[in-house]
Amino acid sequence: MPRARSSAAPAGAEAARVAVAPASAPARAQPSPAQKALHKLGLVRDIDLALHLPLRYEDETRITPIRNARDGDSVQIEGTVVACEVQLRPRRQLLVTVEDETGSCELRFFSFYPSHQKTMAVGARLRVRGEIKGGFWGRQMLHPAFRLAGGELPAALTPVYPTVAQLPQAYLRRAVAGALLRVDLSDTLPPDADPPVHHFHDQNGVQRLWNLREALSFLHHPTPDVALATLQDHSHPAWQRLKAEELLAQQLSQLQSKRERARLRAPVLRAGGSAGAPLHEQLLAVLPFALTGAQRRVGEEIARDIARPVPMHRLLQGDVGSGKTVVAALAAAVCIDAGWQCALMAPTEILAEQHFAKLIGWLEPLLAARGQRVAWLVGGQKKKERAAMLALIASGEATLVVGTHAVIQDSVQFRNLALAVIDEQHRFGVAQRLALRQKLADHGMEPHLLMMSATPIPRTLAMSYYADLDVSTIDELPPGRTPIVTKLIADSRKDEVIGRIGAQVAAGRQVYWVCPLIEESEALDLSNATATHADLSEALPGVMVGLLHSRMPGAEKKAVMDLFKSAQMGVLVSTTVIEVGVDVPNASLMVIEHAERFGLSQLHQLRGRVGRGAAASACVLLYSTNDSGRLGETARDRLKAMAETNDGFEIARRDLEIRGPGEFLGARQSGDALLRFADLATDTLLLDWAREQAVAMLDRHPALAERHVQRWLGGKSDYLKA
Ligand code: ADP
Ligand code: MG
Repeated sequence: MPRARSSAAPAGAEAARVAVAPASAPARAQPSPAQKALHKLGLVRDIDLALHLPLRYEDETRITPIRNARDGDSVQIEGTVVACEVQLRPRRQLLVTVEDETGSCELRFFSFYPSHQKTMAVGARLRVRGEIKGGFWGRQMLHPAFRLAGGELPAALTPVYPTVAQLPQAYLRRAVAGALLRVDLSDTLPPDADPPVHHFHDQNGVQRLWNLREALSFLHHPTPDVALATLQDHSHPAWQRLKAEELLAQQLSQLQSKRERARLRAPVLRAGGSAGAPLHEQLLAVLPFALTGAQRRVGEEIARDIARPVPMHRLLQGDVGSGKTVVAALAAAVCIDAGWQCALMAPTEILAEQHFAKLIGWLEPLLAARGQRVAWLVGGQKKKERAAMLALIASGEATLVVGTHAVIQDSVQFRNLALAVIDEQHRFGVAQRLALRQKLADHGMEPHLLMMSATPIPRTLAMSYYADLDVSTIDELPPGRTPIVTKLIADSRKDEVIGRIGAQVAAGRQVYWVCPLIEESEALDLSNATATHADLSEALPGVMVGLLHSRMPGAEKKAVMDLFKSAQMGVLVSTTVIEVGVDVPNASLMVIEHAERFGLSQLHQLRGRVGRGAAASACVLLYSTNDSGRLGETARDRLKAMAETNDGFEIARRDLEIRGPGEFLGARQSGDALLRFADLATDTLLLDWAREQAVAMLDRHPALAERHVQRWLGGKSDYLKA
């Protein structure tokens, strides 16, 4: 069967070629499927190939006497075929026995071709590589690699590269080997910039560092005496060298963009541009509460930033419910007071509405008193309404523009946008942030940018990925919040939980039921939520149970939300897509089904939707025990963190431990800027070195710095600057 496929592939590729080539196109060599696959993997330049490191290695450098091969060993043996036969029971298979002077080993193939039998005919001498099963009573290898014996043994381990189906390992090996010969790997580190990594003894017994060329040659073709564990855990000096260089490239790139940004101009935003009391003071006066100390502190940090003629690039982080929106609103007020426009954006329409509704309720009358308007821009707006909004924005009559990323589409012309606030910034793409920066181009300036996130970034990440970002942190919740009690319950006890819902609703409370997100399939998500909705409706007679999911038309969503907000609806079933922005203080119980499928930080955000009122609130995390008892246990262990702490920072720290940095970086991933080699959790020494070195290098060796960044990041460095 694989044969048939391999002979069909070129024909298919041929057909595709004919189909895409325009009739008049000049005759040019078309890329082969393997070449295309290389490009797809990002292996374009020689340096990309040189930095494409093996996943693991195979040791073909020696032959193990069969007698010495133990159960579980991966070995290469050499022997003569003494038997070769096809067996039909219990299933069709090819059995081949090879023998050397020390013992024998049986090779077993469940799929095979006539050519196999020919190569492994009795009397043939074979070199066979695979994992030994069994021991003294009979050694076996299942589907080993084999070829006729002969030829020299290689001196180095054989690399096995990460690859894809269209890119055969042998082709990739040749491509990498070729690239290693061609590529310029001259040092870019200044002579006085040795990274803090282990030295090694060269042939002359001199202690020195691996340079990049040595490190890479070694990692592609290590000598067989290497301790494989040090390659696996990246602690080998050659790995250390690579990690140091990678971190340096990343730090340099971020520092460059920080310095570039410092040269850009932005409007100076200071309150007091209009007559009467400044807008932010008016806003403070209508707020039904006093700011917390933390809110005041970060508010001042932001006010200082936007009063400077350099674009702000600040992340405001604070736990769910810590009151970030008010802080953003105060900045907006200063901006508007100074005579400029401000945009507030959230990733979805519902979030925009939910996050900013209160705020707009407070600001709108104050703006109206000045003859100014608030404009809304969301995806599904009617043409006429949208046109009206666009006019308000272009004329400058709307000084506050609220919405989704529809706000930064090309067709939206601001009169003078000076401050953009992005809520849940990790859900915005790099391209969107770049587009935003263009919005003030007519003035030769860039707007100030304030990003908000309830997923706090752990310190190492902030240092590493957000080196060009200033961070403000709200580390205090407003007073009077009742802590949320979190319980982990196996889903086999779902009925009990439903009983508890009944009691809550009878006591006049409201309940959220969050259905699991099935990434691969929105349709499955939906059918799941629909089924849950039906189940709950049946189990809770007399209670209004609503359903909210991402595919619903906006008006329908709004109708459901309104019923829930007005407390007519007791239970709201929803998928996560829409959940995060809901603010209903009377809701005091949240049930999250298949909680094990969520990230901890995501669960924390969800949980933050209850506990907003005075009533004691609870969050029930249902975890699945269906799959197998053990899986259930692991899931529970991971979720324990949720029950143990309500502190979003602590949860983020544990999430980082469990899931790695990807989760936190969100859109930055799309820039492929994630570290490939270094690990922020363990390579802190190298990171410290890279941070320090980056400053010195940019000042004293700018040409080397540029070469270093180009080598490591190529075209990707732009993404890091967004
Ligand atoms: P988040 O940081 O999650 O965006 P919000 O800004 O939505 O938090 O605030 C959560 C709730 O707390 C809102 O209802 C808001 O009005 C209220 N709030 C904000 N600051 C304070 C404060 N200092 N005292 C009391 N309530 C506050
Ligand atoms: Mg918020």
